[in-house]
Amino acid sequence: SRNDVDYFGAGPAPLPDPVLEEAAKILLNYKDSGIGIQEISHRGADAADILEKTQLCLRQLLNIPQSDGPEGYQVLFLQGGGSGEFSATVYHMVSVWVAKQWKHLKDYKLLGLDEDAVVDGLRDLVEEKMKIDYFVTGSWSLKASQEAARLVGGEKVNIVTDSRKHRDGKFGVIAAQDTWTHTKEESDVVMTYYCDNETVDGVEFQATPSGHNLVADMSSNFLSRPIDITKYAAIYAGAQKNVGSTGITIAIVSNKFMPPHAEMADPKLLRRLGLPVGPSVLDWPTIAKNKSLYNTLPIFDVWVAGKVMQRTLDLFSEENGAPRLAGQAAESKKKADMLYSVMDEHSSIYQVVPDKSIRSRMNLCFRVKGGDDEAEKTFLKGAESRGLLGIKGHRSVGGMRVSNYNAVPVAAVEKLAKYLLDYAKSEG
Ligand code: PMP
Repeated sequence: SRNDVDYFGAGPAPLPDPVLEEAAKILLNYKDSGIGIQEISHRGADAADILEKTQLCLRQLLNIPQSDGPEGYQVLFLQGGGSGEFSATVYHMVSVWVAKQWKHLKDYKLLGLDEDAVVDGLRDLVEEKMKIDYFVTGSWSLKASQEAARLVGGEKVNIVTDSRKHRDGKFGVIAAQDTWTHTKEESDVVMTYYCDNETVDGVEFQATPSGHNLVADMSSNFLSRPIDITKYAAIYAGAQKNVGSTGITIAIVSNKFMPPHAEMADPKLLRRLGLPVGPSVLDWPTIAKNKSLYNTLPIFDVWVAGKVMQRTLDLFSEENGAPRLAGQAAESKKKADMLYSVMDEHSSIYQVVPDKSIRSRMNLCFRVKGGDDEAEKTFLKGAESRGLLGIKGHRSVGGMRVSNYNAVPVAAVEKLAKYLLDYAKSEG
């Protein structure tokens, strides 16, 4: 039964028992209406209420400015997963960049140049200047950069750093800042994209990196520590790790990059420039204008996320002016430290895959006895016999991966730490 196991899956990931217990009830009967939550209309008052509450919880947790002015941020609930946002970020930020250049160039029209000449000028700018900067620090940011290359052409993708070049072709470090190669002219930069926590490779940024128009994928460490949202043009996260069930993605977008504060390029103009026009379901302004209900949104998933967020607010009521999520961050660190310290103390048995300086608190990747096949099989079997599940590593890295998301209880980590210790002792 559920009580017999502790689950460390990488995503979909464990959800808090009280949330699932309530979910089980409302699947049959929501608010005593006789109708299950999966059956109610996404356009009804109940759905609107769920959306509103979830958004408010999120705004509290991350201290997201709520304002129609340029300093405000929009909270969007989308579908298409983190992968959908690999594309959405490109479509959106390219459109904003092009509209900005177009606005500048249009002034030439006043000097008597005709529109075709201005479009030609803009096409030259796109070809010679436009760049999207990517930090490639693991397999998810690599995928995002590959999607950008697919959409706009590889020559427009500038790799700020590729961690594999600093470590025998494998991920597991973030190279020193003085080796980063940002695009020189800020005005040429569409966005600077990075993945805050690389789920597969166990690499986590320890501080926000530099970059113009910063956009971050926070899918696997969302709501695990405070962030300063004002540093970002946008962040996004798939729900299925730290906040909820699979089905929704949350994007938080600065008003500076949204209408009416930013103009969007006309699709006709984008086509003339040979740039892609994204589908409406991924289009942030369309989703914002429709309050996340442009099309049928899985309201149940929004409800789950809202409950998880409310629970985080209730569990960690920060005091003495500490930022929200400081308590969650402390707990995440404590749990991760508990496991890493056993591994470090028994380094002949356990080898942490990534470099110590950028180890993830969320996804702990390690090998057993240098990746010895038999040893790793035995280790996994032993874990399973104690009900410790979901720790087999991603196929591209091998070995083990323990995911230490917010919903993983301290007691579960204590059990796992004990197993790590017992195994190490038995081996040596
Ligand atoms: N980004 C990160 C950091 C991820 O961990 C994942 C999925 N594990 C994705 C993006 C892709 O998300 P999805 O599968 O929802 O498209």
